[in-house]
Amino acid sequence: MKKPIYFDYAAATPTEPRVLKAMMPFLTTRFYNPSAIYLVAKNVKAELSNARHQVAKTMGVREAEIIFCSGATEANNLAIQGVMRNYPKAEVLVSAVEHESVLAPAKHYKHKLITVDDKGVVNLSKLEKQINKNTALISVMHTNNELGSLQPIAEIAQLVSKERAKRQKSRNKTPLYFHSDLAQAGNYFDLNMARLGLDLATVNGGKLYGPKQSGALYIKTGVNLEPLIVGGGQEFGFRSGTENVAACVGLAVAFAHAQENRKIEAEKVAHLRQFLEAKLTDTFKQVTINGSARGRAPHIVSATFAGIDNERVMMQLDELGFQVAVGSACSASSDEPSHVLSAIGLTDEQARATLRLSLGRRTTKKDIQKLVSGLRKIIKS
Ligand code: PLP
Repeated sequence: MKKPIYFDYAAATPTEPRVLKAMMPFLTTRFYNPSAIYLVAKNVKAELSNARHQVAKTMGVREAEIIFCSGATEANNLAIQGVMRNYPKAEVLVSAVEHESVLAPAKHYKHKLITVDDKGVVNLSKLEKQINKNTALISVMHTNNELGSLQPIAEIAQLVSKERAKRQKSRNKTPLYFHSDLAQAGNYFDLNMARLGLDLATVNGGKLYGPKQSGALYIKTGVNLEPLIVGGGQEFGFRSGTENVAACVGLAVAFAHAQENRKIEAEKVAHLRQFLEAKLTDTFKQVTINGSARGRAPHIVSATFAGIDNERVMMQLDELGFQVAVGSACSASSDEPSHVLSAIGLTDEQARATLRLSLGRRTTKKDIQKLVSGLRKIIKS
């Protein structure tokens, strides 16, 4: 079998050795339940607190505002359902290009989709018109997982502040909260909460070179949210169940490292992305790169090759030793064309001719050259 050449970092990142090293004691010798009251367990609880402190520091927030949970799907569900259960008559606005783990919980409540332009970006003036006195929650992701499009998070936060001021004057008691799914953003963008202006934010360790099923939800002090998982009252009552200390420690180490190195990493990966896009457009006359050239994440290329069957090409690439994605690999397999590509106006046929190529820490120019040669064997230009 050929050595795999990986182009699916938006689906999963390899767990870094430094992260594994930090986790290992809590999977072996220091396995104790952090709620137990003997000394060795109390020490484990202290390590859990350290991990929370590290995540909080990385985001510029308080420790009590960080709830560890099992990844982005759970964090998104806790944000959407946790708020909407408390305001069942209110409405949630979600962008049309959100991950299913935001869209699916939103569908249980009164909800509206925020449309995006042909680059996958929310239009601020249209969003402003969609906010009404009954809107309790807005959820717009930072970085789209299929296109890499970036949303105007700080500007949306300003709209939210404006609406809150209006409500205060009119004595409207419905709160308005702003949530963002940051699952694809942690390796490349500044995730300081004060600068982004968020009330709720989802972090995903599995995309940050940390362990899968690790994650956190930032819940700003004062946000009125109902827990979804109740029981022993762990995680300040927001998420019961014995804590997965190894995963929490792994997330903390991976996230801090990712944020410390984000600028260098963003520059390096963006350069590789430009190299890949130039190679693709030089080699294939029928290729279109989706999303905007500016304002896009460094690690994601969505490319439509007119006339191809993306699943067949993906399988053929797999045989040649390259792993790529069709649309998003984050949802279980589905025959439906991607809702994200439909939202930017692609036809079903175009969506089925689209590959997602995503880059990361171990991608090299040589890998890219090999991938384009592999594609040339499969797709006629
Ligand atoms: N949100 C976004 C933007 C994602 O890309 C993903 C997965 O790829 C998720 C949420 C869900 O993450 P997980 O399956 O790790 O819970």
